[in-house]
Amino acid sequence: MGFQRINTLSDIAKRGYWLKLTCKCGHMRRCDPDKLLERLMRRGADTRLSHLAKNMKCGMCGRKDFEATHCEGAADRFAIRCAA
Ligand SMILES: [Zn+2]
Repeated sequence: MGFQRINTLSDIAKRGYWLKLTCKCGHMRRCDPDKLLERLMRRGADTRLSHLAKNMKCGMCGRKDFEATHCEGAADRFAIRCAA
């Protein structure tokens, strides 16, 4: 199995990764993709990462300018709560 491009939140969830959002101000947070996905699906929202980043707001600076990507596991899974 080679590396496959991850474009949506479901891609992240399926592979067991976590969603990582990095703001322009340097603030970073990880979200549980399953929980977020469930919420977005219920609303019929777009789950593409490029779209997702525009709908998140930074708790530090208030900007909506995140870079959405994926990351390995979650050693700090309780450290940061996703408030999207
Ligand atoms: Zn910020």
